[in-house]
Amino acid sequence: MDVAIVGSGPTGAAYARVLSELRPDLELVSFEAGPLLADPPGLHVKNIADAEERAAAQRRSEGLVASDSEDRRLRRAGTHLLPDGFQQPGEDGIPSLAMSSNVGGMGAHWTAACPRPGDSEVIGFIDNLDELLDEAERLLGVSTHAFDGAPFADEVRARLGRAFDDSRPTGRKVQPMPLAVQTRDDGRVTWSGSDVVYGDATRSNPRHSLFPEAQVRVLRLEDGCVSGVVVRDLQDGTEHYVAAGQVVVAADAVRTPQLLWASGIRPRALGRYLNDQSQVIFAARLRDVVAADAAEGKASGKPRIARQSGVSWVPFTDAEPFHGQVMQLDASPVPLAPDDVVEPGSIVGLGWFCAKDLQETDRLEFDDEQTDAYGMPAIRVHYTLTDRDLAALEQARQTVRKAAEALGEPLDADPITLPPGASLHYQGTARMGATDDGTSVCDPLSRVWGVDGLRVAGNGLIPTSTACNPTLTSVALAVAGARDIASTYPKQEGTLP
Ligand code: FAD
Repeated sequence: MDVAIVGSGPTGAAYARVLSELRPDLELVSFEAGPLLADPPGLHVKNIADAEERAAAQRRSEGLVASDSEDRRLRRAGTHLLPDGFQQPGEDGIPSLAMSSNVGGMGAHWTAACPRPGDSEVIGFIDNLDELLDEAERLLGVSTHAFDGAPFADEVRARLGRAFDDSRPTGRKVQPMPLAVQTRDDGRVTWSGSDVVYGDATRSNPRHSLFPEAQVRVLRLEDGCVSGVVVRDLQDGTEHYVAAGQVVVAADAVRTPQLLWASGIRPRALGRYLNDQSQVIFAARLRDVVAADAAEGKASGKPRIARQSGVSWVPFTDAEPFHGQVMQLDASPVPLAPDDVVEPGSIVGLGWFCAKDLQETDRLEFDDEQTDAYGMPAIRVHYTLTDRDLAALEQARQTVRKAAEALGEPLDADPITLPPGASLHYQGTARMGATDDGTSVCDPLSRVWGVDGLRVAGNGLIPTSTACNPTLTSVALAVAGARDIASTYPKQEGTLP
């Protein structure tokens, strides 16, 4: 095998896609611990039309251990939480630390928001980051036009713009959220999962194979160089050694460092600088616009979909270090009066994400004795919110209220602060750095310092403190790593006609 890829989320899929396009001579294999949910592999579950089938696919993504019905921690469908070890005495912990285990990873369940990083979110030592982000947008099928023509969306942005845009530079003003979705002729959207990232180039590549329910247990090394992986077939429990010239670990920000640790690869920064984006949510009913638009909709016979409020974005800036996402809620999270008729699109949810004050001590610790349900080192989370984090959260609560009041009537007295982990954006644990100075795990081409042939991928690589959704950036970093394999891996003579 030339390249073994661990994980089939958007970043693992990006390696398979770029290598399929650039190096069709290479033998590629992707191992995925979770089950195959649908065809094509990696399909977003929201694209499964049948509600029961969709729910079954979500349940099948929730790992080996059924969640405890007594567990009151916030958990999203399609994900499973770290069962224990998520909070140490005297610390905040990350109670809602979640993973998805299925072909497509979290990318089969995500909201598909793909904003670009700005100001201090940008990874300064990557010169061609913008071009890599362009390519990531191509792979994910990102568009800013998914909800073009939705009248509420324009109004939402106009109102937010009046509240926020004055002091903002061009490019960081209120705008449509770039989304990894495709709009169909009837106005419905389909959501990009790893299936879109894999694309036909990967699916038609006879030299790429994807094995679901195949968990990589350990990476094998010879003389400081990775030589292959040991894979357990989760259906029959058998283990197999697969030799590989290059290994890419794209197993999320929790399980990527766990696998390296289990393999004896333990750079100082591994699992450290863990950061989650604290999140504040609120809901508002759009003022005035509803009745007028409803009347217009009825008169014109427009389909309901055209009256959605879309997804709007208030970008992060260093002066206002939050990332704001405003999107339609089909129903309010806050109960309305029973006789209150809710016009679709008139209730919007506001989510404000905060950038974390990074600390080396915020970390995942791996146990050499105890194991988890997958037989991997058990995880303990050390995590605290600093005074700066608490101040940022308070500022975010004020800002989200300002946004809600600009839009209309807030539906509750106060914004809700979600528990740590709710963002589903965990970063820093396999950190990228410009030099091997002990504060990073890999170099700008995702190569793990000191281990030849081994790369890492995923949100864990992001070294900056970000508030924006991370997947676009992580896919961009994967593109750089994959291109580097493509340009440096020896040509496989005689494999192509
Ligand atoms: P993942 O998608 O997590 O995939 C990792 C895969 O590796 C998993 O399938 C896992 O089973 C597999 N794996 C782990 N260990 C092993 C092993 N040892 N052997 C084999 N396989 C293994 N992000 C955004 O940017 N924008 C959003 O709007 C957004 N919304 C979200 C909404 C929800 C409800 C959820 C759940 C997530 C959301 N995210 C969002 C996060 C986004 O989905 C992730 O950032 C993205 O999927 C990360 O891609 P990845 O390939 O690094 O990891």
